[in-house]
Amino acid sequence: MKKLIVANWKMNPKSFKEAEKLLLAVSKTKTTQHPVICPPFVYLPLLKTKLDLGAQDIFWQNSGPFTGQISPEMLKQFKVKYAIIGHSERRALGETDNEVNLKIKGAILNKITPILCVGYGLSAEMEDEEVMQHLQSQLEADLHEIDPKKVIVAYEPVWAISTGDPYKTKQMENPEHAERICMFVRIKFKVSKVLYGGSTNASNAESFLSRQIDGLLVGGASLNALEFNKMITTKI
Ligand code: PEP
Repeated sequence: MKKLIVANWKMNPKSFKEAEKLLLAVSKTKTTQHPVICPPFVYLPLLKTKLDLGAQDIFWQNSGPFTGQISPEMLKQFKVKYAIIGHSERRALGETDNEVNLKIKGAILNKITPILCVGYGLSAEMEDEEVMQHLQSQLEADLHEIDPKKVIVAYEPVWAISTGDPYKTKQMENPEHAERICMFVRIKFKVSKVLYGGSTNASNAESFLSRQIDGLLVGGASLNALEFNKMITTKI
C-alpha cells in the first residue's frame, strides 16, 4: 500500500511564481507513494495540479463573523481533501486542544480528512513511556467525541522538527522510536493512519517508510523539488 507523504510548505515560497514552479517540478514525477501538497491558503485556488491538495489549517464554522478565518466549505471549492490541524507551530501561538477538537469536527463534517499533529510539549529527554502518556492526554482531548477512523494522526516530536537531522538528538534510534510511538497511537486510538514528521528528507525517508509508519509529514525538504521527488518515489 502506498504511504502518504504530506508536504507542508508552511509560509513558503515567497511568490506564486515560485510555488507554481515547485509544484510543476513535483507533479511531473512518477510517484511510488501518495503525495499531498499543502501550500499557503492564498495559492490554493491558483494552483493547477492532479496531485491531492491539503490546507495547513482550517476553521470550524462555515461562515460568519470570524475575521481572518478560512472555512471548510471554502476550501472544498478548491478541491482540498486534507487539512493539517494542530501543528506545533500553531499550538506555540496559542491554539488549544479545544480549538483543535472543533477544527477536526468541522473538517470531518465537510468531508475533509484531518491530519492531526501531536507531540507539542514533548522533550527530547523523555522516555517512550512518558511520551506515550503525554500523547494519550493530547489525543484524548483532541479526539473527544470524534470517530478516530476518520482521522490521520501525525506524530511530530517538537525537538525533531526543523533540526535538519532527526538523528541529531538523544533518540539516536529515531526510526525505531518513531515506529514504537506510531504503533502505540494506531493501536490505542484506532485512527486511520499514523504519520511521522520531524526533519525527514530524501536520505532518511526509507528508514521511516520501511517500518510500520503510514507515511511522513515533511516540512523543509518539501520545498526542494529534487529532494521531495526522491521521497515520493521511495521504493519500499
Ligand atoms: C513540520 O513542521 O511539520 C516538519 C516536519 O518540518 P521539518 O520536516 O522541516 O522538520
